[in-house]
Amino acid sequence: MSLFATLARPNILKLRAYRSARSIATEARIFLDANEAPGPVAQDLNRYPKPQPPELVQKFAKLYNVREENILVGRGSDEAIDVLTRTFCEPSQDEILITPPTYGMYEVSADIQNAGVKRVDLLFTGDTWKLNLPEMIRQTTANTKIIYLCSPNNPTGTVFNLDEVRTLLQSTNAIVVVDEAYGEFTPNSSVIPLLQEFPRLVVLRTLSKAWGRAGLRCGVALGHPELIELLQKVRAPYPLPQPIVELALEVLSPKGESEMRARVETLGTARKKMSAEMLKLPSVEKVFPSEANFLLVRFKNEAAVMAATKAGGILLRSRNSEPGLSNCVRITIGNEEENRSLMQVLGEIL
Ligand code: PMP
Repeated sequence: MSLFATLARPNILKLRAYRSARSIATEARIFLDANEAPGPVAQDLNRYPKPQPPELVQKFAKLYNVREENILVGRGSDEAIDVLTRTFCEPSQDEILITPPTYGMYEVSADIQNAGVKRVDLLFTGDTWKLNLPEMIRQTTANTKIIYLCSPNNPTGTVFNLDEVRTLLQSTNAIVVVDEAYGEFTPNSSVIPLLQEFPRLVVLRTLSKAWGRAGLRCGVALGHPELIELLQKVRAPYPLPQPIVELALEVLSPKGESEMRARVETLGTARKKMSAEMLKLPSVEKVFPSEANFLLVRFKNEAAVMAATKAGGILLRSRNSEPGLSNCVRITIGNEEENRSLMQVLGEIL
């Protein structure tokens, strides 16, 4: 019996996945099995790509120190969230649990699936946010299929520790998804090492943030091979276009990796500098500690900040309407010139 027999939707457990031409065979002299056009076409673009390109999967396996069976590659973490929701949440019956304020797509994916959403707000401790573990555990029922944690959390920048994730896995029967979209900014707090111990743990990683390639739409879900197999049944037949696979391989090369590390370093330094400068501005009330490539800032008047930056051609993300985030704005760390322009506009607000 599947390890996930009581967690996955029954129809997905039973589902016979679509057998795309390239999932059946990839080697031949002449391919006449997929109704493709005959070549030659530059880069063999007349051909369907490999559904889970082995070279790319191997690169990710090496990078995260997991096995290839632990990996689903797809179009960014957003696709992984969608596939997880469709695999585990029975419409009108199951639910997810989220910890607001957090990333919005968990809830949107659940809404699309017509799954419920339980909210256990993060607790504000005076300086930063914390999980309300006892309440999360109390609220998790047999129908709570997925608990989402985002670490570092968007938008608060908070990093949750391994013990908290462990406690959640030990005290509930849900899938615990840890979204590490910003994980490269805090390399020592990844929960990837817990994957061996907990089959119900899923970790999301992406090339969109520290790797600097949001435009590629490439990310992975890491998890137990049986869970990944279920996700493979639900994903699109050919999630990754071939040119994207080639660009992603380049990004994951040793050169790309050292560029990523340099980017993490540069953005970390810029974030600290911006944080210190913000604190000196009369319009700023509080700068929350962040480990990622953004800052959450409480201003005295969020509307004035949004209006002034908009007039200056700068887009920020207001979080003012979310619980506990009155007058808060999330600010992505840009390059030197962008940061300077922002600070100049903010400096002119009284
Ligand atoms: N998770 C979090 C926490 C995010 O902030 C974002 C992007 N804003 C995503 C996932 C989506 O990432 P991707 O580009 O990999 O779909």
